[in-house]
Amino acid sequence: MLNDDPLANVLYIDLSKRSYRVAQRQDLFEKYVGGAGVAVQLLEEECPQGCDPYGPHNPIIFAVGPLTGLFPLASKTVAMFKSPHTGNLGESHCGGRSAVALRMAGYGAIVINGTSDIPVYVAIHDGRVHFRDASVLWGMGSRFTVGRIIRENEPGSGLRTIMRIGRAGEQLVSYASVTTETYRHFGRLGLGAVFGCKKLKAVQISGKRSLPVADQKQYRTTYDEIYKTAVSSSAMKKYHDLGTPQNVLPLNDLGALPTRNLKEVRFEGVSNVSGETLAEQFLGRRLACSHCPVACIHVAALREPYEDEPYFYKTSMISYDYEPIYALATMLGVSDNRGFLELMDEVETVGVDAMSTGVILAWATEAMERGLISEKETLDLELSWGNHRAYVEAVRRIVSQPNDFYRALARGVKHAADQYGGADFALSFGGNEMPGYHTGPGAHVGALIGARHGHLDNAGYSLDQKAAATELPTPEKLVAALMAEEEWRQVLSSLVVCFFARGIYTQEIVSETLRSAGFELSKEDMEKIGMMIHRNKYRFKIREGFSLDDVRLPKRIFETESPIGMLDKAYFQDALSHFKNMLLASES
Ligand code: SF4
Repeated sequence: MLNDDPLANVLYIDLSKRSYRVAQRQDLFEKYVGGAGVAVQLLEEECPQGCDPYGPHNPIIFAVGPLTGLFPLASKTVAMFKSPHTGNLGESHCGGRSAVALRMAGYGAIVINGTSDIPVYVAIHDGRVHFRDASVLWGMGSRFTVGRIIRENEPGSGLRTIMRIGRAGEQLVSYASVTTETYRHFGRLGLGAVFGCKKLKAVQISGKRSLPVADQKQYRTTYDEIYKTAVSSSAMKKYHDLGTPQNVLPLNDLGALPTRNLKEVRFEGVSNVSGETLAEQFLGRRLACSHCPVACIHVAALREPYEDEPYFYKTSMISYDYEPIYALATMLGVSDNRGFLELMDEVETVGVDAMSTGVILAWATEAMERGLISEKETLDLELSWGNHRAYVEAVRRIVSQPNDFYRALARGVKHAADQYGGADFALSFGGNEMPGYHTGPGAHVGALIGARHGHLDNAGYSLDQKAAATELPTPEKLVAALMAEEEWRQVLSSLVVCFFARGIYTQEIVSETLRSAGFELSKEDMEKIGMMIHRNKYRFKIREGFSLDDVRLPKRIFETESPIGMLDKAYFQDALSHFKNMLLASES
């Protein structure tokens, strides 16, 4: 039975027993609002301590928030799981239609447990869960065909989300992604591998419920205010016009664009892979997540002639963003923009995280350059800067894993460097591959202490840019600023609002939107909730073996100049001990 307030409904699915039930969990949503706050609590409840991330007891949790379906840009779903990539907190956010579909289906969260004995996909329609045989979809090479078959066999056209994995998830690559609506992803930390080990090819969700609002008049006023700002602000216009690739040239000018495994910070071929050039030469369409007027998703149309039919073209549609450009173009020295798009297309087809893949291939290229590995390991593949064809083939082999070397690459850069050497230039933070910013200490300390070890945890790069214009904060002040941002982001990711709209969703606007959704939260309440969720995440990490005493800083970040000069290791150690003290103080 579904409750009147769909947000309180948590759908529990057991793949082993092919059963499901719904529980009303007002307790969770009252205390943690939704999204990340609810998901980490469900993870704590459902994931046994020390469980094998590839085993049946690792749960997959999806959660949305009170603003989902009600307000513009509240378009994201939070996924939580134990990460097969880092062995602790797995958290990834995705838009597309996932969030609105989940809420319209009548749920605030979904928990998927167990393992199927045969490949399945789960179809959730209007309060019923169907387990469909997906044997025919398992192993399929085309990412489009899987979606098409599910679309043709399931209802909910125009409203539904289809989350699915590619071959990398099936082959348990530890940084495999989950794709929704062809162009959006739960990219980081290996949700695709958790799907794969459960033999779960896809999850399809649709529903047509309506949502209550507490005060119609206030709802309209607040809605209009957010909508107007979203369509008129210059920041949002930039996201629409060029998207995040607008950052490629400014970061290059700044000397902060990691190039050739961060041996350099400016790329001589940058103009070929800038947001401007990609838009001029390839932009095929822009797309938006459900309930978003910004449409920041940029999709390139790559037209390639067939070898034996010169006037017959294949057109591939490939979404691109700043992070994949950094990871698959500049980090690999790929200046041929068609080559970059071909590599991106392969990454999308097999379903791996673009950032992790680029950083791993950059390490492998440098390891080959230095003689740590040879063609014996790569199986005659010449990994060299700019050689996009070799990189496309390497991605295929990371999935097929023909030998120990590719099996090591399939587990991430830290694992590969532990096996073959080269830890000094293996750009891993807390076991996750580096984001695309060498702006200063904020970016790297932020990635090191962030709960997900990613750039979206606390956006340390923006603190660096402020510091470049003024002065470097003390390590203590840097950590305090990173934590303030990360804690506030816990509130936004519990609502769940797209981080691109963080300038619109100020504390005042958040209070107003929550009032419309039936929540009364003061600024102080929000601050407390943000801190509590952050600490809950860290408690889970530590419970699963993460230790700040074991984190390793790649030597490379101290060897390459940043816009604020060479980075100082002692500054990092100071920052780390301030962070440890901060965590300890909040636990006591
Ligand atoms: S700004 Fe972009 S990522 Fe964010 S909700 Fe809109 S389309 Fe999706």
